[in-house]
Amino acid sequence: MTAPVVPIYDRVAFIGLGLIASSMALSIRQFGLAREIIGHDKSDETRAIALEIGLCDCVFDTAGAAVEGADLVVLCVPVGAMGEIAAAIAPHLKQGACVTDVGSVKQAVIEAVAAHIPAGVVFVPAHPLAGTEHSGPRSGFATLFQNRWCLLTPTKTSTPEATARLRALWERMGANVDEMDAAHHDLVLAVVSHTPHLIAYTMVGVADHLGRVSNSEVIKYSASGFRDFTRIAASDPTMWRDVFLTNKDAVLDILGRFTEELFVLQRAIRMGDGDELYAYFMRTRAIRRGIIEAGQDTAAPDFGRVVTKKDG
Ligand code: NAP
Repeated sequence: MTAPVVPIYDRVAFIGLGLIASSMALSIRQFGLAREIIGHDKSDETRAIALEIGLCDCVFDTAGAAVEGADLVVLCVPVGAMGEIAAAIAPHLKQGACVTDVGSVKQAVIEAVAAHIPAGVVFVPAHPLAGTEHSGPRSGFATLFQNRWCLLTPTKTSTPEATARLRALWERMGANVDEMDAAHHDLVLAVVSHTPHLIAYTMVGVADHLGRVSNSEVIKYSASGFRDFTRIAASDPTMWRDVFLTNKDAVLDILGRFTEELFVLQRAIRMGDGDELYAYFMRTRAIRRGIIEAGQDTAAPDFGRVVTKKDG
């Protein structure tokens, strides 16, 4: 006989009903992790969709009304909107509630949110390292967090009990959970996510300028490496604007290092230094192998894409 599923929270309230909130809501429902799911989004249309597709049991026009009586409040809005939401919900939070967020930058969110958290409520910041280039309530799926990392960056006011409970939620949604300091999180993310996104945006921008000369070729031959840049560069403009504005120092640090490396390769190409290029590419190939061995990506060629005739 299988043990009955025990919900971790009674009532979970999501503020912002886009990709991450909808994926969490679907996963929470699938695994029976909460008794009730409440939602708020600033857009009437998004709130209506959330009800229509069954993400939420109930939606509210204001963030304050949505968090009344919730055990867990999950802030799923762009990083730049976290502070204003925290201020709006503060008077409505239940004593003993836990507020968390899913923002891609942690120090700026902690600065914006922590000051508004009333006594008797805890704040445990979190960041799931999972996403797609799609946005909105229809883009979510329950398996988004399977075998992905979720990083918790507890603050001085995060109690061990609330942190452990939130960790259990993420683990039961299929994520691997680690805890780290918020500043360290922001530096690591600048390396593995934020700067690579900036480079993708830039490369697509370069092709856009070239496209004015040979537009049809940029589209026609985009099945090679450029296609992966275009996928990343299609990511939500609001979200990424906020990431770069709020993780400024770490991104500028990594971007400086990136520029130095680029000059090393540029010089090797100019000087015809094949040994330098070969040694460099051997090192980077080993990193890719490490990612596959850690189970963070597939070893299948072209990320396991099924090649259709049109893809060429
Ligand atoms: P999303 O799909 O664009 O959803 C965000 C939602 O928040 C939208 O429905 C938006 O409404 C709503 N919203 C914005 N400002 C609001 C406000 N002041 N009050 C109420 N609702 C508001 O974005 P997402 O990808 O889920 O990202 C949400 C958070 O997760 C961000 O902080 C992001 O950094 C983080 N994150 C994203 C990813 C990723 O890959 N996408 C991964 C990990 C973490 P409108 O549609 O009307 O603007």
